[in-house]
Amino acid sequence: MSWLTEYVRPRIRTLLGRREIPDNLWTQCPACEQVVSTRELEASLKVCPNCGHHLRGTAQERLAWTFDPAPGVTGAGDRRMDGARPEGGEPGFTRIELPRAPADPLGFRDQKRYVDRLRDARAKTGLDDALVVAHGTIGGHRCVVAAMAFEFMAGSMGAAVGEGIVAAARLAVLQSAPLIVFTASGGARMQEGAISLMQMPRTTIATRMVKEAGLPFLVVLTDPTTGGVTASFAMLGDIAIAEPGALIGFAGARVIEQTVRETLPEGFQRAEYLHEHGIVDMVVHRGEMRATLARLVGLLRRVPDAGRPAAEGASGSGAESGAASVPEAAQAEPADVVADAP
Ligand SMILES: [Zn+2]
Repeated sequence: MSWLTEYVRPRIRTLLGRREIPDNLWTQCPACEQVVSTRELEASLKVCPNCGHHLRGTAQERLAWTFDPAPGVTGAGDRRMDGARPEGGEPGFTRIELPRAPADPLGFRDQKRYVDRLRDARAKTGLDDALVVAHGTIGGHRCVVAAMAFEFMAGSMGAAVGEGIVAAARLAVLQSAPLIVFTASGGARMQEGAISLMQMPRTTIATRMVKEAGLPFLVVLTDPTTGGVTASFAMLGDIAIAEPGALIGFAGARVIEQTVRETLPEGFQRAEYLHEHGIVDMVVHRGEMRATLARLVGLLRRVPDAGRPAAEGASGSGAESGAASVPEAAQAEPADVVADAP
């Protein structure tokens, strides 16, 4: 071996090796196919600066985007960094541990065992299941937020997600705080069979609990919200908010097309179409989501907050009736929306 191969070549390799470029520096927008720097994209809360397409966010990012930043954290960039940090960070909000559900109640196996799928998804995402729940403040209002994780087995709802929604509702009642749920789901988790379907009535009852306590229950439908999640708690919010362009539906468009033997209209099952047809109350840009939620919670909470101490303490009949009437009025309209939905 010569001096060239033994000494010079390794030297050149080390020099070149240092110039490695990380492959996650650029992201291509799935809508306009423009290549955007990942850094710029994260600073804009994963909204394409070119076409405004809302890319999917992880559950952890949702929490960071939604809650007020912790004291000392100011810019959007700082918040983004904290949201991306897997453990430890999380300023401005506190994540709660969710109750454990039976891991594989049916001993299910398709090409892969369900327990193996769960293990892989847990390793990939660092989450226990497809839901995270946290409490903190939004625009200074104490809130409980449950965010579904589409990155975990397509956000499918099994017993663990059901337990999580129940836990979030209980926490909201306990803290006398509004419950806000961000949905992102492919539907029921087929590996849990009928048990996953049982989560539909369970989560419905859980949201009922929040409403009976006179607390606001807001749902933010994000891309995609389908199947059993749409058919249960996702459509029961006092106010149904959606992100622009989000796919929201029960069955897939192709299945519907084959069943009704008709060509479906443009934009069918998209947030804007559903807004025009009264299923969704508002379509809100991600950059305005926190301010909108803060405003809505402020509006829905104003009278009960002022009336409750007077009603409990001095038992003034005027204050009591004033406090009770507003949440009922707030719920009356969405109940109609739900009745029209199916
Ligand atoms: Zn784009």
